[in-house]
Amino acid sequence: MDLELTGKVALVTAASKGLGRATARQLAAEGARVMISARSAEQLEKTAAEIAEETGAQVEHCPADVSSGDDLDRLLAETRARLGGVDVLVNNAGGPRPGGFDALDDAAWQEAFELNLLSTVRLFRGVLGHMREQGWGRIVTIASSSIKQPIENLLLSNTYRVAILGLAKSVALEFAPHGVLVNTVGPGRIATDRVASLDANRATTAGISVEEVRAQTEKAIPLGRYGTAEEFAKVAAFLVSGANTYLTGQNFLVDGGMVKAI
Ligand code: NAD
Repeated sequence: MDLELTGKVALVTAASKGLGRATARQLAAEGARVMISARSAEQLEKTAAEIAEETGAQVEHCPADVSSGDDLDRLLAETRARLGGVDVLVNNAGGPRPGGFDALDDAAWQEAFELNLLSTVRLFRGVLGHMREQGWGRIVTIASSSIKQPIENLLLSNTYRVAILGLAKSVALEFAPHGVLVNTVGPGRIATDRVASLDANRATTAGISVEEVRAQTEKAIPLGRYGTAEEFAKVAAFLVSGANTYLTGQNFLVDGGMVKAI
């Protein structure tokens, strides 16, 4: 299947590592011209060079903290200047800090609001004008399995990821007549640094080893293992591709069957 991504301009945020990186690499391998972004310039430069080397694609990089409106304005301006208008947005951010209700003060709520929800609003606003004008655009937001089932001790994710669904669905409906398709993907347990750090956190709380945490978690996944970032990236790449012509306003889990809800 031709994903019809050749020459498309793709912006992938929070892409120096993990799911963002793997998705950017997949898009580059499919012929897209890619802008990647994350906070640390050093790691970002390394990742951009690796993806360009592996795929032969044009891979630009620009540091930006997605929590900052100024950073996002600069990132969008740089992308337009170096690559042109954004055809494909993969909207990703770092995960919010773990914690149950009692552990979260106003500052924690505000921080996660800016990191996960306001960044989404700002990025959508930054790309939708061009997409509407040209009558074509694709957006995917990387969320979490918490969009279908709350995760213990991740209250901020359980709250703001669901808010993203309301936003993404609304924008999908409003912009469908303009050829813009908007979807959300929720990873379950994909082996990345974020999952390693959450496992370490749980191991400390439960007084067991990280290996035991992983074994217990894998037992609850029908496919019996954590996913790989590459497995996740293939799904995200399809959703933002030209091959996707009829899926919009949907949310998908890439979770090996972990969430049992129908
Ligand atoms: P990761 O830690 O491997 O990578 C996160 C990336 O985000 C890094 O490139 C980091 O530099 C960047 N980043 C962090 N904060 C940022 C900020 N403020 N501005 C810009 N860039 C920032 O994590 P991951 O596993 O790839 O997770 C990506 C997203 O998916 C996170 O929001 C995470 O909570 C969510 N998620 C992941 C899983 C999973 O199984 N891996 C499960 C549920 C949800």
